[in-house]
Amino acid sequence: SGGENLDLKDILLKNRRLSYTEKLDYFSGFLKMLDSVQGNQYRRMIISPAGTEVEVIDKYDNTIRKMIMFGSNNYLGLANHPLVVEKVKKAINKYGIGIGGPPLLNGYTQLHAELENKLAVLKKKESVMLFSSGYNANVGLVSGLCSDKNDAFIYDEYSHASLYDGIKLAQVPSYAFKHNNTVDLETILRKTSDRLNQFVAVEGVYSMDGDMCPLDEIVKIARRYNAITILDDAHATLVLGDGGSGSAGMFETASCVDITMGTFSKAFAVTGGFVAGSKDLVEYLRYFARSYMFSASLSIPVVATVLACLEVIEAQPDLRIRLIENVGYAKEKLRKFGLVTDPKAAIIALRVPANMDIRKAAHIFHKNGIFINSIEYPAVPKHEQRFRISLMATHTYKQIDRLVEVVEQVWQQEQ
Ligand code: PMP
Repeated sequence: SGGENLDLKDILLKNRRLSYTEKLDYFSGFLKMLDSVQGNQYRRMIISPAGTEVEVIDKYDNTIRKMIMFGSNNYLGLANHPLVVEKVKKAINKYGIGIGGPPLLNGYTQLHAELENKLAVLKKKESVMLFSSGYNANVGLVSGLCSDKNDAFIYDEYSHASLYDGIKLAQVPSYAFKHNNTVDLETILRKTSDRLNQFVAVEGVYSMDGDMCPLDEIVKIARRYNAITILDDAHATLVLGDGGSGSAGMFETASCVDITMGTFSKAFAVTGGFVAGSKDLVEYLRYFARSYMFSASLSIPVVATVLACLEVIEAQPDLRIRLIENVGYAKEKLRKFGLVTDPKAAIIALRVPANMDIRKAAHIFHKNGIFINSIEYPAVPKHEQRFRISLMATHTYKQIDRLVEVVEQVWQQEQ
């Protein structure tokens, strides 16, 4: 069967004409090849609660391995916070677990409404609507809002896949500007200034490298062209800004951002997403975002978790401070190994040196009980491969020191 010698890019990125059987056959060949390499750390099976320490079944020797978790978006350690657990239990006692329907029909409870209102306050927007994931929020927002061939959808090239997919579904003319490059953004805005609507989409904190967008500059430029601004604040909500309001809270022009989206899969440590904006926008999207209309509502435990997280973070602002301290501590110690950017939020990307085999390096991390994520080609170009480290408020300095020790070992052994 094919696949063993096939570059994954051939299947995934080039539009090869393969029959159903050929496609599955090629891919199973590729997976076999991947599994034969020790550094393939995809789909590690975790058998303990999500915390700074987890237990993982080691697929190479079938043993249980205790690992320090540096690969989770549970940034504030809220996934198992006792107060969150208690609140969720109370909500289940009152409402049960499931809803069994989409929000426009039977899937809208008092709890869903309460969460929308609380998030609107957090984001300082008129209204909020909930989606079943952050992915669905972006897809629904873009495809529901922008379907006109006379519009221009302008976005940072490093945007998340869900934005790309929303653009595809919308079939709106779209233009990527170079990452964080305001000159390129303005050039595109100028070129498309005759369009009916111009949209500009950025992320508060970029998910691969943890760097922030220059929001003030972007908003000022967008306003010159009357463009509508969209901020994906998945990684900054609850982490940055006043009271965890997000990255916009760190900029003067925060109130000028027209639409913000976020997700519950990061600091809220569950699943789900939301869009925040004007009341008219939200009411419109409730009927035009198909990923909202045709997808079942978030279940009660999820909604209750997010509400509880909001309460905890209000009562314990020190968690956010601890996270930022941990990021600062780790960043200083890891700087000498080659940070991709100077991160402000909880993601630190380490550049993999050109002569290092990322899979071998990943295996050393794994064997030494350090759970981090590899960002490999073809997700990024070969010379831009990296390790992505996520910090949590609940990490101890001792755990971070151990991470640094293993990074040192990997860098010595694999170069
Ligand atoms: N936007 C960004 C910037 C993200 O990083 C992610 C998740 N990786 C999403 C959207 C999608 O969120 P979810 O996981 O809730 O679907």
